[in-house]
Amino acid sequence: MNTKKIRPLILAVIVLTLALSLWHQSGGSESSYTDREFLFDTECTITAYGKNAEEAVKAAFERLEEVHSLTDMYSESSDVYRINTAAANESVEISPSTADILDTALRISEASDGAFDITVAAVTKLWDFKSEAPKPPHESAVCEALSHVGLNNLILDSEKLTVTKTDSKTEIDLGGAAKGYAGDEALRVMKELGIEAAIADLGGNVTCMGSNPKSKDGKWRVGIQVPFAPTGEYDDIVETSGGAIVTSGTYQRSFEYCGKLYHHIIDPKTGFPAAADYSSVTVICDSSRLADCLATACFVMGRENGNALAAQYGARIIFK
Ligand code: AMP
Ligand code: MG
Repeated sequence: MNTKKIRPLILAVIVLTLALSLWHQSGGSESSYTDREFLFDTECTITAYGKNAEEAVKAAFERLEEVHSLTDMYSESSDVYRINTAAANESVEISPSTADILDTALRISEASDGAFDITVAAVTKLWDFKSEAPKPPHESAVCEALSHVGLNNLILDSEKLTVTKTDSKTEIDLGGAAKGYAGDEALRVMKELGIEAAIADLGGNVTCMGSNPKSKDGKWRVGIQVPFAPTGEYDDIVETSGGAIVTSGTYQRSFEYCGKLYHHIIDPKTGFPAAADYSSVTVICDSSRLADCLATACFVMGRENGNALAAQYGARIIFK
């Protein structure tokens, strides 16, 4: 081959290499994998980038299923079900994952002065948001249920991996905490498999890590939903290099009865939906398990106390 023919060939190879590298940087489809599953009563979507993306997303979903099966209060084999049906002073063995979730939940319960309280289950069970014709429970039923709510009714032994209740009718509800833990776990599992960039969206509970191959500056952009607007309508975009963006909103589960809106974030002091002049609270911080508990807690606490609690954990907070 003479040099006149070689030059255009070299140029073509350079152009092709450049194009491929730009295509790769812009998130070429071969280097990413996305999957969806319905877990924790919501649609969960995970995307991983790079080599082993498919294997990593599948492993992350296996971990999510594990966490879900431990924390689903309606599944008879779950740790939560066994705690809820245990007698007073009976020691219930739990898995290390459940102990981790309980540990974070109890810390935030204490820090929020009981605004976040997983022992609120006796009350939350009275609120049926899935019924065809939902209506608020009777005040006397709420009052009776409230007598079994309280952090002192639950003793966690993180070393022995046991939970003991002092009141047999005390039950726990990890609906405000388990998804956050699962988000952290999804990223951890993928990281262990060599994934450097990934995003997990567990229904308003977003966790991401690494440099986003889909954006020029590598940042992740997460839209904060306009409350009660059709899904996908955002008016705030949070930019982050990684971490958790978690939203607790009344629009996620609510019903109207006699012209009044009843939602699923319960004030453990009253047993009724927390009164608020906002519809959602978004917490942005490094840890998803913390952000999940904080978002629910801050919703109940209100703007001033919620801001103060979030600041204690170095978290950003948005009320909407
Ligand atoms: P989230 O969407 O994370 O704010 O969690 C709301 C869910 O947590 C509800 O559907 C209940 O299962 C549970 N929950 C409601 N109120 C509280 C509360 N004050 N503290 C802890 N969990 C709660
Ligand atoms: Mg929460």
